[in-house]
Amino acid sequence: MAQPLINLHNHSTWSDGHYSPEQLVRMGIVSGLTHLGISDHYYTAKLVAEGTYVDIDELEAYVADLGHIAEVYAGQIHVLAGIEVDWSPRAEGVLSALWPVIDQLDYVLFEYVESEQWAGYSLEDLLAVLPLIHIPVGLAHNNLSENFAPSRTPGELVSVLQEHQIFVELSTNPLTLYYRDTDPYSLRLWGSLVESQVRFSIGSDTHGLIDHVANVRDAHRFLEERGALDRLITAWWDPSQRVWSDRQR
Ligand SMILES: [Zn+2]
Repeated sequence: MAQPLINLHNHSTWSDGHYSPEQLVRMGIVSGLTHLGISDHYYTAKLVAEGTYVDIDELEAYVADLGHIAEVYAGQIHVLAGIEVDWSPRAEGVLSALWPVIDQLDYVLFEYVESEQWAGYSLEDLLAVLPLIHIPVGLAHNNLSENFAPSRTPGELVSVLQEHQIFVELSTNPLTLYYRDTDPYSLRLWGSLVESQVRFSIGSDTHGLIDHVANVRDAHRFLEERGALDRLITAWWDPSQRVWSDRQR
């Protein structure tokens, strides 16, 4: 198989992105991506004024739209349907409606997990809902050292993520380029993550600039240099089994 080149964090006109899913997919093809994921925002109070999110009653149409585009471009790129969940009280009251229908998506990104700055819910709270979700679950652009250093050693964090099969996104957005941080906690954490069985996603958090779709090469280089490029969430995932097939015994 050709080297993967993935970008699974892109916002479209279904939420607060400026480009349609099809425009994003075409840019993904031009950029040489093997996988492009659309990860629009699920309901969150922070976007209520603009009304730019996927509401629960729009979810089916959203998945159908992305599924149609995936079919049209199937020979050229893998198109995945994701969703980004604001893991905080800003989404309170609408989260429980999501779990029964979430499995029709290909993956889910949780943002602000255990973030004090963004008043995020805890990782423990996330573990509590995991049994209701059977698609890959990951942490989006999480400032891991800031959010988890107070409560866990790097080794403790890695073992929780590994045990519960929670993937970590390498965000190439310059505002959240945390995998390149060089504080002691981050260096130890990433050293440990790449040695573990934790999975990775890569995403640019595209909103308003189409060029951002192509901005993922540094994160691929980072994983490749550490021998971890074979643990992207796009590899080995078997939706019919709801498992990563290289884990089957
Ligand atoms: Zn996002």
